[in-house]
Amino acid sequence: NLNSIVHIFAKDNVLKLYKDSLKSQQSSKKAESIKTCGDEISSELPLIVLLKDNYNVLGEPTTCASNILKGFVSPFTATVAELLQKSGALCIGKVNMDEFAMGSTTTSGIYGNTINWITSSKGLEILEAFRNETITEGNSIKEGNQQSSQVGLDPVFNKNEQRSCGGSSGGSAVSVASRFCNASLGSDTGGSVRLPASWCGVVGFKPTYGMCSRYGLVSYANSFDTVGIAGENVSTTKKVFDIINSHDPNDMTSISRLLRDQIKSVVDSRNSSISLDDDDKLLGKLKIGIPKLFGSEGASIKEVSLPNTKYALSAYYTLVSAEASSNLAKYDGVRYGYRHSDVDFSSIEKGLNENEEITNAKDTSSLFSKTRSFGFGPEVKRRIMLGNYVLSLESFKEYYEKAQHVRNMIIQDFDKVFRIRNVRIEEQSLNDSLNEGCDLLLVPTSSTTAPLLDDILQVQSGKKENSSNVDIYMNDVMTVPMSLAGLPTVCIPVGVSGQDGLPIGLQLVGQYGDDEMVLRVANILE
Ligand code: GLN
Repeated sequence: NLNSIVHIFAKDNVLKLYKDSLKSQQSSKKAESIKTCGDEISSELPLIVLLKDNYNVLGEPTTCASNILKGFVSPFTATVAELLQKSGALCIGKVNMDEFAMGSTTTSGIYGNTINWITSSKGLEILEAFRNETITEGNSIKEGNQQSSQVGLDPVFNKNEQRSCGGSSGGSAVSVASRFCNASLGSDTGGSVRLPASWCGVVGFKPTYGMCSRYGLVSYANSFDTVGIAGENVSTTKKVFDIINSHDPNDMTSISRLLRDQIKSVVDSRNSSISLDDDDKLLGKLKIGIPKLFGSEGASIKEVSLPNTKYALSAYYTLVSAEASSNLAKYDGVRYGYRHSDVDFSSIEKGLNENEEITNAKDTSSLFSKTRSFGFGPEVKRRIMLGNYVLSLESFKEYYEKAQHVRNMIIQDFDKVFRIRNVRIEEQSLNDSLNEGCDLLLVPTSSTTAPLLDDILQVQSGKKENSSNVDIYMNDVMTVPMSLAGLPTVCIPVGVSGQDGLPIGLQLVGQYGDDEMVLRVANILE
């Protein structure tokens, strides 16, 4: 599985359904290509969905690909996972990620690197054979999974040709691209579903911030985190979104029913005023904002300016590190998962027994620091250091406050270009000009196709001259502006590069709450 699946939790009966479903999907896909009536056939089959390993499932480990959560077993199930299970979807296991979702390459976690399925020109063919072997011969999937990192796929995949799958939800994109599932829930804080979707040639959708519940999704940077969906196509992605799109009282940041109603009324009034109900005529009526270089598909094109997006990447990394450092403070060896064992507890106990104040401080802090030093990997530590720095008294004003200010300016930039208003902003302060603005924006997802995995590893290990980990942050430059503004964005595959034959993705961006329109148009353009 190219090291995408890291844990299978489905019981034997569900696994059997999974195997049967996968086989029927394969044959219905064959039938589809012959009879072109595949939709009807496949709609009866249950959706197969894998979860990124930062979603909690009752009684199962959640590791976030980190040593610090080793041994942690979740006492509850994430709302979105529960909704999927209730809908009849087969949620069978967990997929790989960057540690705590910090990264763009799925290389920083304890499970090792996930590899882009497209590595070889014969990628899909080989995968098909590989998967048939693990699944149709009645082997347990667990066995196949456990071997996967050792198998390394070396006989068929030349290591030097391996491409990066992107990240941090690389396991989600690869498990979908290699057809182990129909969709996979990832998380998208700054592009983590869209970038891997683009590099692996699948659909990656980041809904409006707060649209889908984050209850049970381990936090990275709360004011940015969204559920993300990697899907085999737009229609499957939409099916998953429809299942998980609802208010959740357990998530304080879940969009309230009242705000959902307001969004609906703004969207409906746009749709009826320019009659957007008919899909066939939709493109002709839409105004799409894009950079000048791109052509039109029938929609009228408007060049837009988003002057503050050039500060987006710096603001993003300042703010997410601040939020991350505060979120990660709870992993101290006391409350969750891993606890470093060579701490001398006797003096702590002695201290408590003798009622001596603070005598145990030295040992407690050694427990914290040893647990955290061992438990977190280098990228997570880098974010903690950076986050503590920007939150410190000396630099709070200089960095954190400025970054918040930039965030507001970016939100305003977007509000100026969209036709419909942002319902979060007070109505009076808006120019609610229904006919001026754009309905959607079209933006590249990444400035490159999937880079060579080896190049990434060289940079990360400091072996590549004149480059640093900050260069890897540059991959997020096209995805973070929408995360700062909380906007719904889908990345759809639009073809392959003439230079290297690798997939290219484009993002369609909508105003806050305009998720349905984003997916409708994606479906037409796909
Ligand atoms: N690469 C970005 C980061 O590390 C995005 C991660 C994400 O969306 N989870 O912050």
